[in-house]
Amino acid sequence: MNYARELIVAPGHKVKLKDIDPGFHGRHESSDAAAPETAAYLEKLGRLQYTLYAERAHSLLIVLQGIDAAGKDGVCRHVIGAMNPQGCAVTGFKQPTAEERGHDFLWRVHRHAPELGQVAIFNRSHYEDVLVVRVHDLAPKETWSLRYDHINAFEKLLADSGTTILKFFLWISKEEQLERFKQRLDDPARRWKISDSDYKEREYWDDYVKAYEDMLERCSTDRAPWYVIPSNHKWFRNLAVSQIICEAMEGMKLQMPKPTVDLDQIRKAYHKASKE
Ligand code: AMP
Ligand code: MG
Repeated sequence: MNYARELIVAPGHKVKLKDIDPGFHGRHESSDAAAPETAAYLEKLGRLQYTLYAERAHSLLIVLQGIDAAGKDGVCRHVIGAMNPQGCAVTGFKQPTAEERGHDFLWRVHRHAPELGQVAIFNRSHYEDVLVVRVHDLAPKETWSLRYDHINAFEKLLADSGTTILKFFLWISKEEQLERFKQRLDDPARRWKISDSDYKEREYWDDYVKAYEDMLERCSTDRAPWYVIPSNHKWFRNLAVSQIICEAMEGMKLQMPKPTVDLDQIRKAYHKASKE
């Protein structure tokens, strides 16, 4: 199944998240059944990224959004795990600092956009400024409502500069979120992730859903599409995300750069002795 086609939000299309099953898992029945395919995509991803890095003609920006415990950190680990860390950067966006608040909302984001040859992953992003900011009235509607157009213009600038943009909205159910919080509480290695605000934010679930739906409708564009990734099953999430990234990178028609030196000349000059 082609998940890029299946899960993309068509530009301008109205999204109703309640109609999208967060437990969807395509044609695979289990983690074990999906594992070989996912492994093959990850292997391919590693090779594609190596060429992207060598060629320095394109860059890739991956944007991750989703409610707490939706799996943003998991996707970062998964995708980066397949790549050479030298060509990747992950940026997590938290509450803006006082200095950042003194600038336009894209100021802190733009400097983390990937340079040619690089992959950048945003763990949360400029979209927080139409999500948490909207849900909690951190800015008036007159301010945040203009931001969709600003975001589209910003992403067009990046795309026109050689950046391929993929945006993944990780969609889990409210029950799955509670279950994941509980697992975090019970697991000494993951307790640190739990905060009071996680539970408080659950009360705003419906407001977030509305904000997500508007974000998906208004900011999925041909050059920077949104994908809604059903994420109750982590293994399906990983499969879908890695397949979509692979397909996009294949579409870049990446090529190993030609050597900048005359190889024959170098061979003759430095390797003659070893040949003889
Ligand atoms: P975490 O990703 O769990 O480390 O949490 C980061 C927190 O920062 C989340 O609660 C986000 O909603 C919040 N955050 C990120 N960007 C913004 C923003 N532009 N304005 C306000 N809060 C933000
Ligand atoms: Mg959190």
